[in-house]
Amino acid sequence: MGTTYHITVVAPFWNSLSRLEQLIREELLALNQSMSVYDPNSEISRFNAMTDTAAALEISDRFADVLEISNDVWRRTRGAFDPTVFPLVKLWGFNTDGSPKLPDAAAIEAAKQRVGFDRVRFDARNRIGKTLPNVGIDLSAIAKGYGVDRVAGVVRNAGYTDFIVEIGGEVFAAGTKADGRPWKVGVNYPDVAAPPDLVYKTLLLSNRAVATSGNYRNFQHIEGKRYTHIIDPQTGWPIDNGVASVTVLADTCALADGLATGLMVLGPEQAIPLVEQWPGIDCLFLVNDAEGKLIEIASSGFGKTP
Ligand code: AMP
Ligand code: MG
Repeated sequence: MGTTYHITVVAPFWNSLSRLEQLIREELLALNQSMSVYDPNSEISRFNAMTDTAAALEISDRFADVLEISNDVWRRTRGAFDPTVFPLVKLWGFNTDGSPKLPDAAAIEAAKQRVGFDRVRFDARNRIGKTLPNVGIDLSAIAKGYGVDRVAGVVRNAGYTDFIVEIGGEVFAAGTKADGRPWKVGVNYPDVAAPPDLVYKTLLLSNRAVATSGNYRNFQHIEGKRYTHIIDPQTGWPIDNGVASVTVLADTCALADGLATGLMVLGPEQAIPLVEQWPGIDCLFLVNDAEGKLIEIASSGFGKTP
């Protein structure tokens, strides 16, 4: 996934964790072989290379799970989160080796025509096709969170109840720390210039996931202007709505991760009402106001319970 991970497990000191480490590595490898767009032989790359709309690809349970959760988030964010944004991501020069340049309007329009999660054909849970030859999927916005859930499952299956799993900043915390208190997770200070370990706010977390999307995380400069890696599928352009970051709490990290990306696109006015009527979900927006000051907009339950 092109990122780092950390796992902490509360265990008696005499337990050897080397077997667990091995199982975690195997899980991460399987996830990459399924959903890495950097691996030309991954399932996702094979799907993206398919041009025959009559063809179907047999996919793993992992891939099918992520598509199922993606479909839910796509529907509920009314398309703000959309994995078929891949052609636009490529056009804007993210997730590729190309040097960034401002795409022309016709190219953006053409790429937009290929975007829409309903262009992925679900023949069966583990069989997918496409209704247009050049539809492509990018699961970067949700795969890390799903990876966290899978790894948490591996740790739980090994018999542990108290642990924390983090992949690329997305987290699931189970049970408590060794001292019986909830785990603590920091929300980054959402500023390009801020050191990556500068904590804006500390959250208490127990049996819950947290994920953050931010415009400071991955961006590029084109002709002197900064463009974030999160694209509004409706406009075809990187978002420019003043939202610096969105932190989402949910029961699973896949949902938190996918939703964080979608809510970034929606912006607080549309996102907060959506979150308020969604049981188990809470969010915190950090927004740069007109004077560049950072303001907080949170759902009513945010930070109330671990
Ligand atoms: P995240 O860091 O979880 O917010 O994911 C951002 C990544 O998801 C980007 O680098 C793109 O590869 C991809 N992406 C960008 N815009 C969208 C979108 N609107 N819906 C789904 N994925 C997106
Ligand atoms: Mg995400």
